[in-house]
Parts: sequence; C-alpha cells; structure tokens
Amino acid sequence: MLPTITNIKKNLFVTGIPPDRCYSQIVIESTKPLSHTSQQLPHSYTLTIPRVNLNMPAETIQVYDGLLENINLKEKNNKVTVTIFFAHPTIIDRLSVANPPYQLIINFNRYFLEQLFWNKLVIIDPGHGGDDNGLRGPVGLWEKEAVLSIAFQLRKILELSGAKVWLTRQGDENMPAEMKIKNLQQQKAQLYIGLHLRKGSGSQDGGFALTIPPQEKQIEKLAADIGLELAKKLNLQNKGIHTDDGLSALGLPAIVAETATITNAVEEGLLRNSHFQWRTAQAIYNAMIKYFYAKTQS
Ligand SMILES: [Zn+2]
Repeated sequence: MLPTITNIKKNLFVTGIPPDRCYSQIVIESTKPLSHTSQQLPHSYTLTIPRVNLNMPAETIQVYDGLLENINLKEKNNKVTVTIFFAHPTIIDRLSVANPPYQLIINFNRYFLEQLFWNKLVIIDPGHGGDDNGLRGPVGLWEKEAVLSIAFQLRKILELSGAKVWLTRQGDENMPAEMKIKNLQQQKAQLYIGLHLRKGSGSQDGGFALTIPPQEKQIEKLAADIGLELAKKLNLQNKGIHTDDGLSALGLPAIVAETATITNAVEEGLLRNSHFQWRTAQAIYNAMIKYFYAKTQS
C-alpha cells in the first residue's frame, strides 16, 4: 500500500525570540512517512513526492498570510508535487515527524516581516463601547462587540510580526472623544486604524467601505490595498473610499475601515465567526505590509 496524503494544514508557528520567532508553517499529513525531493526558487518552493496517493482535491489552496500566497497541488501517476509560493525573502527548513500521524513540516521564516514591523507602533481603535453600542445587526449583534473581536485578531497578527500595538479599549468601555484624540496624539504612532461596520441602505445591501483624510497619497494607496485584500479574503462588495477632514485632526496617518455591513443578516452571521474575523484582520495586515514597505523605499 502506498502512503496517502490526507491533509495539508497551514498556520502561524511561534517560537524563540525575534527577529527569528514567527514562521508560516505548512504541514502535510500522511498515512505513512513520505520520501520527497525539494527545489527552492526565488519565490517558490516545490516538494516532489513520488509513489503516493492524494486523498484531497489537486487544486490551489489560498493562504495569503503576508508571506505565503498559495499552495499549488498536482497529482499525476501517483506522483504529487506541492508548490508553495511566497512573496518575500524567507529561510526554509523542514522536518518529518516519524510517528503517526506522519507529518512533513515546512517552516518559512518570517524575518522579512519582523524587520519591517520592528519598532512600529500601530493604534487600533475599535469603535464605540460602553453606553455607545454602535449599530445593531438584525439578529442582535452589536457593532461594538464585533469590531473589538476584529481588533484583538489584528493586534495578534501585528504583534506576531514584532509591531507594538495600542488598543484604545480592551473591553466594553468608551473613552470620551477629546481624551481619545489627546491620547492618540501623544502616542507618536506610525498608523491609526479605526474599526467600524457599515449600515446598509436596505436589508440586502452589503460590503465594506474605507474612510481616509483628504489628499494623503500614501493612505489612499493603503485604502486601495485594504480594499483589494478584503475583497479577496472575504468575498464582499467594495463600497469604495470616502474622505473625512476629521481624520486629519488626529495628526497621524489614519484610516477607518468599515469591514462589513452589520445590517445585512448574512454579513452579521459572518461577523460572529472567529475565522472570518481572522481573515478580516489578515486582509488589513497584508495591505499594511505594502504600506510600510513603500515607506522604506521612499
Ligand atoms: Zn461605528
């Protein structure tokens, strides 16, 4: 009996100390140990596994975790090739677990991202809180709860990249607007992200929208990139980029994302799902990579 590949998992693996701490990890599970050869190119890594069955569809698995883009699976005459595409320089190591469940583990070092986010301070401002509930979904989800969950996920992924994160609230509370602005100005952060949800014009209306200060070219690019990433990761409609003079008053690069429409029952359901919250955070983070990278080039 040939070994069978039963599953391919992807996750972030954390160990050690920065700047060699966080890895994008791919785990190939099989019924018996796998023999394989590998080839590394500037933006891809291919494993060739002869004499094996594939017990899953031979297709492309989306990753887009900031480093890895996707995994391409091919199967022909009991030979499987697994090609992993990555967007930035990385150091790859692999190891095998020799007891059931048999695993072939491939670690992609995220040092490029850790260097990029090192010493960056990002403010995440989950909207509303306390007496201010924000919008309410048709099944009863409050905006203040949903945006806080997304904020926690975004903080986690940023901290894994070595960034410092300041949350304007960590629970069900609210800071008076004047005090919040004063605090924001004192933080000397590189970026402010306000998190809100959209109100649809009817029960069927859905999607996400972004608000930026006027005449800020780099923030406009960030908003466009967040739009592309959210559309790709969440498959929601892009309701465009709006401008608000009030954001200029914060005195730091600022953007507000209404990441979904809470008045739409389908999107309200998605907003309760922690995997959806994680994908939302990851989309914003992926756009931030481009933003901070562009800053190192200018
Ligand atoms: Zn709001």
